[in-house]
Amino acid sequence: MASTNLILLGPPGAGKGTHAQYLERELGVVHISTGDMLREAVAEGTALGNKAQEYMKAGQLVPDELVIELAKERLGKRDCPVGWLLDGFPRTIAQAEALSAIVDELQMPSPLAVNMVISEAEVVRRLSGRRMCRNCGTIFNLHRDNIDVGDPCPTCGGEIYIRSDDRPEAVRERLRVYQRQTEPLIDYYQQQAQLITVDVEGKQEEVSQHLLAAVRSKDVKRG
Ligand code: ADP
Ligand code: ZN
Repeated sequence: MASTNLILLGPPGAGKGTHAQYLERELGVVHISTGDMLREAVAEGTALGNKAQEYMKAGQLVPDELVIELAKERLGKRDCPVGWLLDGFPRTIAQAEALSAIVDELQMPSPLAVNMVISEAEVVRRLSGRRMCRNCGTIFNLHRDNIDVGDPCPTCGGEIYIRSDDRPEAVRERLRVYQRQTEPLIDYYQQQAQLITVDVEGKQEEVSQHLLAAVRSKDVKRG
């Protein structure tokens, strides 16, 4: 079977990062998160990070040309031909078109997009409870894990914090941005028959397994 290349499409709070980690392990693909890469750039104070910072804080998208360049560079690295999973990219039609050109240029199999479906109420509940470890990056949830700012990270003892874009105003803006700019990608990939749809509102382990099964069965059909 050819290498598997995947795109996770879904609103903030759909669980892209968490399920991506599972699929990475199960499928042996490389997990590429543009959000993580951008947060790293911000933390390191690189030129890219300095440009991206204000957009991210406000819950807006970083300009296409910056993110496209970042993705292109990453997909060109040596570990990518085994297969990859993009988490948070593409997020606009321009990014999707750029991705398709990158994939052609690198002669990689065209990606399968996974449409992660979840209600808005659940998204808001999850994002408002999201807590992260500054040290190891593990994501927790106040409602589910009962871990809050001030507690030590159960995994590494690191400091727990709230992402600046998880504040309520920024959450609402990210949802609007998703609906306006990213949702059109569902039709885009549907038209190319490169889309599968999975309900992601349920329990994390079950959803991860559904996602894996859906990807595997579509992959077999595509050959
Ligand atoms: P979430 O999916 O929870 O909103 P991410 O970690 O994927 O979070 O992204 C965080 C922020 O990083 C976004 O709100 C945006 O500002 C920026 N970002 C990440 N990926 C992209 C992208 N493909 N295009 C533009 N901006 C991006
Ligand atoms: Zn930690």
